[in-house]
Amino acid sequence: MPALIDKLLSPSLKTALNVVAVPAFNDNYLWLIHDGIHAAVVDPGDAKPILAALDTHGLALAAILLTHHHADHAGGVQTLLQHFNVPVFGPAREAIAGVDTPLREGDRASIAQLGLTLTVLDAPGHTSGHIAYIAAEQHWLFCGDTLFAGGCGRLFEGSPQQMVDSLAKLSQLPGDTLVYCAHEYTMSNLRFALAVEPDNAALVARIAREQAKRDRQQPTVPSTIDLENATNPFLRYQQPTIVAALHAHGRLQQADPVAAFAALREWKNDFK
Ligand code: ZN
Ligand code: FE
Repeated sequence: MPALIDKLLSPSLKTALNVVAVPAFNDNYLWLIHDGIHAAVVDPGDAKPILAALDTHGLALAAILLTHHHADHAGGVQTLLQHFNVPVFGPAREAIAGVDTPLREGDRASIAQLGLTLTVLDAPGHTSGHIAYIAAEQHWLFCGDTLFAGGCGRLFEGSPQQMVDSLAKLSQLPGDTLVYCAHEYTMSNLRFALAVEPDNAALVARIAREQAKRDRQQPTVPSTIDLENATNPFLRYQQPTIVAALHAHGRLQQADPVAAFAALREWKNDFK
């Protein structure tokens, strides 16, 4: 009986949350999480498209979530705060104007209006204090510029070891976790991935699917952790075929996983 009641009531009691991509600049995605009434925004680099999207969907902003300090992720905060008096969650290890709730690994960001709780992982490498947000119940990951579809962020402030550790944490999330990264870099990432792993059948199939989405002007984001583990060279740098490719291209001398990752990241930086 309780099971039946649970079955009957749970769909109506549970608010369905949606995630909407708000494009900004050349290739950024600002993420709007909403229930039709309230919204939280992840990495609002620009306030204008967020204000427009809130208006279009009839939403009130309830929270701002930041992954790192770069302007294309945090540049819209002050303008949004002029319109909405909301909490601003952000990395404890970075100084970002407007952040009133600094977060580090294991902390939670709760947004009562959405019934949403996000847990925080430290994910340094792209920047030294970068964090990622996980919606454990929904299986969503908001990872800023750490993990990209088919790639990873550049190492602007952190070390290869830090990025290796950060990506390892993300790669171990449930395979069906949706990866909401902050840029549409997928096709250029996958072109590089194919140069690294020309014989990866999952990668070849993915490139065709993602290209078809781009041809229809659709986002390739979110992807999934399973798909990233199968096709993203920056999660696969310990695969013998990738290590062999690094050696063949004269980019790796030692047999060391972190050196392999660093060599792969440098190869991508040089890749045209
Ligand atoms: Zn960045
Ligand atoms: Fe960025």
